[in-house]
Amino acid sequence: MDFMLSDEQKMIFEYGRSLAADIGRDYWVECAEKGCFPDKMYKKVAQDGFVGVMVPEAYGGAGLGMTEMALFNESLAEQGMPLLSLVVGATMGLSLIASFGTEAQKKKYLPPACAGDTRFCFAITEPDAGTNSMRISTIAKPQPDGSFKLTGRKVYITDAQESDYMVLVTRTTPLADVKRKTDGFTLFIVDTKAKGIEMHPIPVSVKIPETQYQVFFDDVQLTPDQVLGEVDRGFDILFHTLNPERILVGAICAGLGRYALGRAVEYANERVVFKGPIGAYQALQHPLAKARTEIELAALMTYKAAWLFDQGQPCGPEANMAKLAGSEACIKAVDASLQCFGGNGFTKEYGIFDLFPVARLMRTIPFNNEMIHNYIAEHVMGLPRSY
Ligand SMILES: Cc1cc2nc3c(=O)[nH]c(=O)nc-3n(C[C@H](O)[C@H](O)[C@H](O)COP(=O)(O)OP(=O)(O)OC[C@H]3O[C@@H](n4cnc5c(N)ncnc54)[C@H](O)[C@@H]3O)c2cc1C
Repeated sequence: MDFMLSDEQKMIFEYGRSLAADIGRDYWVECAEKGCFPDKMYKKVAQDGFVGVMVPEAYGGAGLGMTEMALFNESLAEQGMPLLSLVVGATMGLSLIASFGTEAQKKKYLPPACAGDTRFCFAITEPDAGTNSMRISTIAKPQPDGSFKLTGRKVYITDAQESDYMVLVTRTTPLADVKRKTDGFTLFIVDTKAKGIEMHPIPVSVKIPETQYQVFFDDVQLTPDQVLGEVDRGFDILFHTLNPERILVGAICAGLGRYALGRAVEYANERVVFKGPIGAYQALQHPLAKARTEIELAALMTYKAAWLFDQGQPCGPEANMAKLAGSEACIKAVDASLQCFGGNGFTKEYGIFDLFPVARLMRTIPFNNEMIHNYIAEHVMGLPRSY
């Protein structure tokens, strides 16, 4: 067992730190307040080769793995500047194309996306299916000439309007007509500006730079070369991207939790209201120490899940545990931090309370923690399925 990061991995973590310092958290906060895409930050990340971390060098990427992508996301979050765009686009979209795209798709889509000239979003959630993805009803009906006609609706699609392409999870055979409910799914690479696509922003109360959209598909024409993977067999490749998504949430939560705790320690070491600094009170120290411990435990599970993924090993249990542990630890870390700041914690100036909705969001997305508990209970521990 080796817990050491390689020199390159340490450099990646350091790079995230220095990029965040160069751009400045104020920029991230401003984008989050205005709900505008953090163009400057994303372009810089792309320019320095970090959008395509998981894309082979032959297609413009860095040819690295999940561990490096997780470390990079963790380091940005540790500076209070997490980027969901790197989860949905750079990881879920690009790495899926890199792994399962045709040669033509890789050549067409990956180099410009790695360079930051084009962007991707990822769409699976639907209003009438929600957590139960088996019930999605957006359908790309196969046509006699080999093309597909797409109709349906997706919700909460991060960056949809700001993206050039969408990796879309749809059915090509309705649920009612398949033998196994996981059959009949197909993934497509869809041009977000295609005829028949309409989008509307969904205002959310969490201040992050990324905007969420409701997306309508009305008889959108899709060609066979837009199929990612195999028709009707999309589910087989879906987990190749859902586990990375969970691993990244673990990484982001570990980073964001450390950011909140770091701010608290700095403040608690300086603030004096009775004799010494408030940081000397165990009532404040212990929740901080407990939260830090839980953050580090979550980070460890995140690294393990990422390592397994990079070895081509199954990592479902570890990816789910990393997401669960990370999100819960992050909420506790922000809460413990907030308490240290007293009234100041609730001000815009200190910006601590604003971390709370972001941390809390991670309990629900991308897969709610109840379903993660269900997964662990059923698949890791052998308990009966409850739903
Ligand atoms: C900011 C934001 C960004 C997002 N980005 C994307 C994106 O880019 N792409 C995308 O496809 N989706 C995205 N989503 C959607 C997100 O993944 C879903 O909202 C989430 O998976 C929960 O699904 P739901 O909202 O339909 O909740 P529902 O399925 O309606 O579930 C509601 C609640 O019921 C409980 N629940 C449901 N089923 C069970 C069960 N079997 N056992 C126990 N409890 C259960 C859970 O507590 C759950 O939170 C985003 C959402 C938000 C808010």
